[in-house]
Amino acid sequence: MKNEIKVISVSSQVTDSCHTNQPIIHAKQVSGFFRTLKSMTQATMWLPFFVLPYLRWNGKQAILLDIDHSQFHFFNLSIFPDDIWMVSFMLLIAAMVLFATTAVASRVWCGYFCFQTAWTDWFVWIEAKIEGNPTARRKLDVAPWNWDKSIKKLTKHTIWLGIALLTAISFSIWFVDAFEYWHKLFELRLPKAGWVTLAVIVSGTYLYAGLMREQVCVWMCPYARFQSVMTDTQTIMPTYDHQRGEPRGKLRKDEAQQGGCIDCFQCVQVCPTGIDIRQGSQLGCITCGLCIDACDGIMDKIGQPRGLIRYASPVEMAGKPVKKPYQQKRLWIYLSLILVSIASLIYGISHISPLTLSVTPERQPLFVRMSDGSIQNKYALKIKNKTRQAIHIKVSASAQVNGLVVVGAEQPILISREHGAFLTVFVKVPSANITQETLPLRLKIEATEDANLSADALTQFNAPKLE
Ligand code: SF4
Ligand code: SF4
Repeated sequence: MKNEIKVISVSSQVTDSCHTNQPIIHAKQVSGFFRTLKSMTQATMWLPFFVLPYLRWNGKQAILLDIDHSQFHFFNLSIFPDDIWMVSFMLLIAAMVLFATTAVASRVWCGYFCFQTAWTDWFVWIEAKIEGNPTARRKLDVAPWNWDKSIKKLTKHTIWLGIALLTAISFSIWFVDAFEYWHKLFELRLPKAGWVTLAVIVSGTYLYAGLMREQVCVWMCPYARFQSVMTDTQTIMPTYDHQRGEPRGKLRKDEAQQGGCIDCFQCVQVCPTGIDIRQGSQLGCITCGLCIDACDGIMDKIGQPRGLIRYASPVEMAGKPVKKPYQQKRLWIYLSLILVSIASLIYGISHISPLTLSVTPERQPLFVRMSDGSIQNKYALKIKNKTRQAIHIKVSASAQVNGLVVVGAEQPILISREHGAFLTVFVKVPSANITQETLPLRLKIEATEDANLSADALTQFNAPKLE
């Protein structure tokens, strides 16, 4: 039988689901290699989300996205608005990694890492513990309300809301001090924005992971919409081996008359998005591999080799030559962009100055002739102390001229930790020493506590036309 590469549209899949009057998919739990892998990747990805905000570093929160003060802190590294380009590189790296993995293995992000999949898995696990297997759950859904149903539903929804609340709190404490947040929460002293964030995330988590589940993956996720442009016939995804499986049929003694698929529907029953992978690759498939686990289990039971459903590319299934990842041009493009972004990020991080200075010279007037005959220029200094301690700053200036004096910063100036300061200074030069109309001037700031903590900026000293 000739192999065919079929792509079924999301709409036909969901229409079928609507026709069966099945408002929510109750997928069967399955065990196997991909189920274990999925649990491990989800834990690796999302455990830090709950735990990392409690980590302290030098007495402060180690990772803090302090939007209120426009500062991000990662251990010893502080990122201020003028370093925000680094965040752009981080986002670019994340996007390129997503594109590259999609090109190689389709929606592997969705199946193994995505928060929607992870939270849905946890919600379904709780549902199964309370209400039983999918058949019991479907029966309970349509059963008339009684004491047993009420208790089960109440327990389930209460636990779901508890997880949603923990999710909302864990999200919020990435942006404010974690321990302070808990105190304020218990004392009901959160600011209005805090309560709104909490309400939005609790309701979103409960709705998406508890009530909408696969509908988010199939209908709402934008990634599902554009993933088709990132994949091609070389992309591997869970695929049913038509040649081996068809003609399908119930297990009979005269096995020679049928293909490998015994039409047991296990692959459909475990699918979190309700797909029958035997109909071909479908946009609603989140590439989780659970149908592979289910089918492999069946193959083991009936003594057939595993792999009737397996990760394979359409060309592989069609018996055509398969390209190695390094033979695919666009992977090289993604990889190059990732490497350039990582290199830029490392360069940026290693060159972040804990103290910055920018200087704006006064333009109106360019200079002032003082009563003692000297020429004076005015400069506006913008200083930023990115360190986590207050420091005292002294200002100095240097140029190829004798008798230069800085006025206005005779005493060291205190600058609070992670704060900026504006300062106006004057630079005076005796007119007799001036030999040119403009000359380069370097202004320097230095912490009195640590001479290595310094910054400078090049500007210009203006003088009247020489006679
Ligand atoms: S689990 Fe395997 S054997 Fe059973 S219906 Fe699916 S493809 Fe066929
Ligand atoms: S078809 Fe298979 S891989 Fe795709 S979502 Fe369903 S179970 Fe997961």
